[in-house]
Amino acid sequence: MTFVVGVTGGIASGKTTVANLFQQEFGIEIVDADVVARQVVEPNSVGLKSIEGYFGHSVIQPDGTLDRAKLREIIFSQPEHKAWLNNLLHPMIRQRMLDELGEVKSEYALLVIPLMVENNLQSLADKVLVVDVDEQTQIQRTVERDAVDATQVKAILSSQATREQRLAIADYVIKNDTENQKLLPQITELHKKFLEISRENR
Ligand code: ATP
Repeated sequence: MTFVVGVTGGIASGKTTVANLFQQEFGIEIVDADVVARQVVEPNSVGLKSIEGYFGHSVIQPDGTLDRAKLREIIFSQPEHKAWLNNLLHPMIRQRMLDELGEVKSEYALLVIPLMVENNLQSLADKVLVVDVDEQTQIQRTVERDAVDATQVKAILSSQATREQRLAIADYVIKNDTENQKLLPQITELHKKFLEISRENR
């Protein structure tokens, strides 16, 4: 089995930036929970067909893709359906992530799961790497990236796990408050460690 480093962090903490550096610099392959979550509901998938069967045709857009806004609306007004949806999707997402990890050819794999703490998914990883930033930085980067205002970002922050909850499951931490140049030395250092551990465990 490939050695799996789970990567998590709050909104705009830099998970994607960090994972991409491991990939670009060292060829480490990435399995991304957000990507997998979209794949399990792509047109003609079992996931999308089940959702259509349960919620009706109104959640399908003319081009055959899932109408996420519509689905969010339904779940917001009828939260009892959220459990059904999670029970459908979570096992599919989990299985697909495991399948993809099984295909990885690099010496270890990165498994990026934004809501790792919230969904209690740390057991999928051998080690957990938390990308940590202060809230002010998260707010500033999200406002710049997503054209939302600080109030909206604060609402998202309060719906996510706290910094402390994430750090409590961390084996390794990347501090990403500073400029981008400070990232690569931290990543190079961690890469060496991950290689050592994956070789020891082989
Ligand atoms: P999300 O979960 O919200 O999708 P994320 O944790 O994957 O976000 P990124 O998309 O990697 O975070 O980074 C968020 C934003 O912050 C991006 O616009 C990125 O370019 C910027 N950013 C990340 N790291 C740094 C850094 N060290 N210095 C400056 N900007 C950064």
